[in-house]
Amino acid sequence: MSKIKVAELFYSIQGEGRYMGVPSVFLRTFGCNFKCAGFGMPRGELSTEVDKVAESIDNYKSYNELPLVSTGCDSYASWDPRFKHLSPVLETDSIVEAIVDSLPHKEWRDEHLVITGGEPLLGWQRSYIDLLSHPKMAALKELTFETNGTQPLTQEFQDYLRWKPNSWTHNRGYFALTFSVSAKLGASGELREDAIKPEIVVDYERFGYTYLKFVIATEADAEEALEVTKIYRDAGFVGPVYLMPVGGVESVYSMNNKNVALLAMKHGMRYSDRLQVPLFKNEWGT
Ligand code: SF4
Repeated sequence: MSKIKVAELFYSIQGEGRYMGVPSVFLRTFGCNFKCAGFGMPRGELSTEVDKVAESIDNYKSYNELPLVSTGCDSYASWDPRFKHLSPVLETDSIVEAIVDSLPHKEWRDEHLVITGGEPLLGWQRSYIDLLSHPKMAALKELTFETNGTQPLTQEFQDYLRWKPNSWTHNRGYFALTFSVSAKLGASGELREDAIKPEIVVDYERFGYTYLKFVIATEADAEEALEVTKIYRDAGFVGPVYLMPVGGVESVYSMNNKNVALLAMKHGMRYSDRLQVPLFKNEWGT
């Protein structure tokens, strides 16, 4: 039986992208290939907020006690090694039990599963086969990977997904797979050559419904999103593109959300909210 290092597992409402508003279980895996320390900072500057949290790490015994940050990656504890002791390594069987136990009726009905991170496609793909093959997951109909779009699917996982009945080819008894790709723009602090991997995202489209979701603070970010979208389009990407306001805390989000909606309209792109911010203040576990 395989294992996954689990940062968080909780039931909430999906606040972003295609499944906004849908009751969802979130499995947040530990580990990321990026740091995205630039979010919310003037271009070129890196946030030190997380460093301050790490300096007082002994004060925090669980995720729910951790403070929110207004700059840098808002899920910092799911990949920063200074917080790794908060994320237990669990066998897939016990993860499935916890997932099903979090459902309101203790069985799948209209809920959707989100595997997020960190970067969920980094090292756990073998374990997802065990997780999704578990009998208690047979009634799951909709699954989203929230990924940064830099990690290719392993051959083994591709083979598994290819043979799993999928909504692309089946109308009944379907399983719908989505890749929500939050490709990182310059404001994240990551380099474009590391962050923009169009051939990998185009490959996701062979296995599920795939869209791009760019985090936007300014008009310049929206312009960059257009430029980067062209790179994906030139590589053959056909899916939709969302603009989503930056803002892991409500004050930053509410300064941005309407402007980003207007920018999305101006450029003929989709708008994604971050409903978890106004609804739940983006606290850990929401
Ligand atoms: S890719 Fe996502 S999880 Fe990883 S550091 Fe960037 S924002 Fe955080």
